[in-house]
Amino acid sequence: VRPLEGKTALVTGGSRGIGAGIVRRLAADGAQVAFTYASAKDQADAVAEATGALAVQADSADHEAVRAAVSRTTEHFGGLDILVNNAGVSHAAPIEDFPLEDFDRLVAVNVRGVFSAVQAAAPHLGQGGRIITIGSVIVDRVPFPGATVYALTKAAVAGLTRGLARELGPRGITVNNVQPGPTTTDMTPDSGPYAESLKQLMPLDQFAEPADIASAVAYLAGPEAHFITGTSWNVDGGIAV
Ligand code: NDP
Repeated sequence: VRPLEGKTALVTGGSRGIGAGIVRRLAADGAQVAFTYASAKDQADAVAEATGALAVQADSADHEAVRAAVSRTTEHFGGLDILVNNAGVSHAAPIEDFPLEDFDRLVAVNVRGVFSAVQAAAPHLGQGGRIITIGSVIVDRVPFPGATVYALTKAAVAGLTRGLARELGPRGITVNNVQPGPTTTDMTPDSGPYAESLKQLMPLDQFAEPADIASAVAYLAGPEAHFITGTSWNVDGGIAV
C-alpha cells in the first residue's frame, strides 16, 4: 500500500519547479492531488496530464481565488487532508531602491497567500491533517545582499508555522515548514557565477533537485511523521552550517 493512499492533497504553485516536484511525488505516493498555478497554463496542463492531478488557476495574491481553489479541491475529491503552501515569488534589490509594489507583491504571495490557503483549508482538515509550507533556508543564512524582503517573508511563514502548530495540534493536525537551500528551478538556475558562488558555501557542493525537497514534504505528509509539528526543516545541502 502506498503511504498516501486515500489522502487528498492541495499544492499551491504546482506547475513548475519545486511545486511540480511535490505534485509528482505525492501522486506517486498514492494521494489524489490538486494544485494551483498563476499563469503557466501549458506547464500546468502537462503536470496534470503526467500525474492525474487537478490543475486550478488561482493567484495566491487573490484571497477569493485561493478560497475558490480550496472549494474546488474539496468538491472534486470529497475532502482535504494535506495542504502544501509552495507558491512563492522572489525579488532582489538594495533596500534603498526596493519598489514598494514589489514589497507588497512578495508579502501578498509568500505570506498572505499562505494565510488565505490555511484559513480556507483548516475547516476541512481532520485528525491526521497536514499543513506543510515551503519557507527557505535564507531564514538561517542570507548569503548575499539584496534578498532582505524575501527573507522577511520566509521568516514570517516560520512564525506562522509555530502559531498554527499550537492552534491546530489539539485537532490532530501537524504544521511544518520545509526550508530549501538552492534548488534547480526557474527561480534559481543551476548555472552562472551566482550559482557557482552559492555552491562554494554548500558542504554538499551542488544544488538540490525539486525531488529532494519533495521527499522531505512526502515524509512530513505521511503517517510516520505524525509526532512532528511546529518545526522548520532545512533541506539545504548544509548551506546553513
Ligand atoms: P519557480 O519560480 O520555479 O515556480 C514557482 C511556482 O509557483 C510556479 O508553479 C508558479 O506558477 C507558482 N506561482 C508563482 N506565483 C504564484 C502566484 N501568485 N499564485 C499562484 N502560484 C504562483 O519557484 P521554485 O519552484 O524555485 O520555488 C517554489 C517555492 O520554494 C517558493 O516558495 C520559493 O520561495 C521556495 N524556495 C525556492 C528555492 C530555490 O532555490 N528554488 C530555495 C528556497 C525556497 P506559474 O507557473 O503559473 O507562474
